[in-house]
Amino acid sequence: MEQKGGLKNRGYSHADVDERRKAVEEFTRTNLESISKFCFDSEKASKNIENMIGAIQIPLGYAGPVLIRGDSAKGEFLIPLATTEGALVASISRGMSVINEGGGARVKVFQDGMTRAPVFKTNGIDHCVQVMEWIDRNIELLSSVVDTTTNHGKLISVESFPAGRNLFIRFTYGTGDAMGMNMATIATEAVCKRIEEHTGAVMVSVSGNMCSDKKPAAINMIKGRGKSVIAEALIPKEIAERRLHASVDSIVETSVRKNLIGSSMSVTLGANAHAANMVAALYIATGQDPAQVVSGSMTTTMCENVEGDLYISVRMPSVEVGTVGGGTSLPAQSEALSIMGCLGNEKARKFAEIVAVTVLAGELSTISAQAAGHLGKAHKELGR
Ligand code: NAP
Repeated sequence: MEQKGGLKNRGYSHADVDERRKAVEEFTRTNLESISKFCFDSEKASKNIENMIGAIQIPLGYAGPVLIRGDSAKGEFLIPLATTEGALVASISRGMSVINEGGGARVKVFQDGMTRAPVFKTNGIDHCVQVMEWIDRNIELLSSVVDTTTNHGKLISVESFPAGRNLFIRFTYGTGDAMGMNMATIATEAVCKRIEEHTGAVMVSVSGNMCSDKKPAAINMIKGRGKSVIAEALIPKEIAERRLHASVDSIVETSVRKNLIGSSMSVTLGANAHAANMVAALYIATGQDPAQVVSGSMTTTMCENVEGDLYISVRMPSVEVGTVGGGTSLPAQSEALSIMGCLGNEKARKFAEIVAVTVLAGELSTISAQAAGHLGKAHKELGR
C-alpha cells in the first residue's frame, strides 16, 4: 500500500484524512464509517498524530461533585472521565459522595519536577568522576543553556549515577503548566552538547531510562517524577458503615491484607486497588499522554482506624500532567479540562490535586466494596 503522508504531511486537511482512510479501507477491505466521524480540525491535530485516518470515540461521563480542600483546587468539582468500563464512574461518584459527607478531601502537591536522564559513554570510572565534578562546577552554565531552549522550563537539579563506563545524569526541570516531556528533552539535548564539548564524554542516548518515562520504575516511585501528590480524607464511623456497608475495621483489614501484603507478595510498584482506572479515565478525557498512566498507577493507598473513624490516604509520586501543550489543546480535551477550571496557565498543580482526589475516591469505593463483598455484584448490575 502506498504511504499517504506521514511525518512530512504536516498540516493535512480533512480531504487528506478522507483520502488516506479510503486507501486503508481499500487495502483492508473494511468500512471505517464510524472512524470517519469526528468534529475537530484535522489540520490542528496534525501536531498530535501522523497518518491520521479519523478518530476513536470513548464515552465520557462525570463523577462528583467532590469537595476538595487543596492548596490550589478549592471547592466542589465535577470530574470528566472517559472509559469503557461499566461501573467505574458510578463507583468513583460513590466514593466522592462519601468523602463529601466526611467534609471533603485534603490534598497537596509536595514536589514538582519533570526528569530526563541521558546516558553518556566515558573512558572509565575516573572519567565518570571528572564529568560529574565538571557538572557540579558548571550548574549555572547548564541552567543558562536550558534557558535558551524554553521560556517556562527551569533546571532544578542534576544527579549523577556512574556505572562502569556509563554515566547516567538525571536532570529535573520545572516545566510550568506543561507536562514537560518535549520541553525537558529539547533542553537536555542542548545541555548534553555542552557536556560533550567540555568533558569528552559521549552522549549515547538522550534517554538512558533512568528518567524513567513510560515504564514502571522504582526511581520514580521513590524520588518522584512530574507532580508528587498526597491526598487524604477522614470518614466518620457512622458514615462509613451507613454508606459503604462495611465496618471501619473490615475496610482497614482489606486494605492492609490486599494493598500492602498482597502487593508485597506480587511485588507491584505501588500498592493500591485500581489507581490506574481513575488515572486512565481522567488522562484520556483531558488529553494527557495515556502511556504515563504507568507512573500514575504507582500509587500507595493507606487506610487506618483513627479513633474509630476511617482515615484513607493516597501517595502518588508520579502524576505527569499538563494543562497546556500535548493533547490538551484538542477541543474536546480542552473542554474537559475547563469543566474543572483547569485549562491553561497556572492550572497544572490544581489539576494534579484533582487527579489525586479522584484516585482517593475510587480507592475508597472499591476497597469498601471488596470489604463488603459487593464488587462482583456491582459489576454484574452496572458493567454487563
Ligand atoms: P509541548 O506542547 O511540546 O510544549 C509545551 C509548550 O507550551 C512549550 O512550547 C511552552 O513554551 C508552551 N507554554 C505556554 N505556556 C506555558 C506554561 N504556562 N507552562 C509551560 N509551558 C507553556 O508539551 P510538553 O509538555 O513539553 O510535552 C508534552 C508532549 O510530549 C506530549 O504530547 C507527550 O505525548 C510528548 N512526549 C514527548 C516525549 C519526548 O521524549 N519528547 C516523551 C513522552 C511524551 P516554552 O517552552 O517556550 O516555555
